[in-house]
Amino acid sequence: MKAIVAFGSNMGQRQETIEDALKMMEERVGRILAVSEVIETEPYGYTEQDNFLNGAALLDTELSPRRLLEVLQGIEAELGRVRLIHWGPRTIDLDIIFYGDEIIDEEDLHIPHADFAQRTFVLGPICEIAPDTVDPRSGKTVRRLYEELIGGEQ
Ligand code: ATP
Ligand code: CA
Ligand code: CA
Repeated sequence: MKAIVAFGSNMGQRQETIEDALKMMEERVGRILAVSEVIETEPYGYTEQDNFLNGAALLDTELSPRRLLEVLQGIEAELGRVRLIHWGPRTIDLDIIFYGDEIIDEEDLHIPHADFAQRTFVLGPICEIAPDTVDPRSGKTVRRLYEELIGGEQ
């Protein structure tokens, strides 16, 4: 199954942490088919914190969505993530944005990610690696969602 994982880091050695996370995902999740450029972005939500480095990866995985979440949370924990404030600083954040065209709405797992279509730092990188991915909720491509979001900001 093709899955898209968005990553972000705003504490410590951000670039190195992202590279470590990508290596761990390749070992534990599956082959990485594409990785976006890493971009620097201003914090979202809780703004009293340092800038993030953000990006996204397209993976080919045999893990179930639930197992994928567990494996990503394991990588976050190993890379020293401390969760103190919601949307607050973190060494690494790994979010599942898409898992094929599946829609999952469980208490602790929403796929597609609940808020991705409001975030340029998620849509931009995905637009670079997989612009024709269709959001199964809206039926729109990532390219279209990104253009609508950027357009709406002007
Ligand atoms: P946001 O999800 O709005 O980007 P966040 O990444 O800061 O916020 P976290 O503290 O990392 O939030 O995660 C909170 C919970 O979100 C996790 O414990 C996880 O169970 C849940 N969650 C729900 N859907 C997803 C998903 N698609 N990918 C990753 N975590 C998810
Ligand atoms: Ca997140
Ligand atoms: Ca998260």
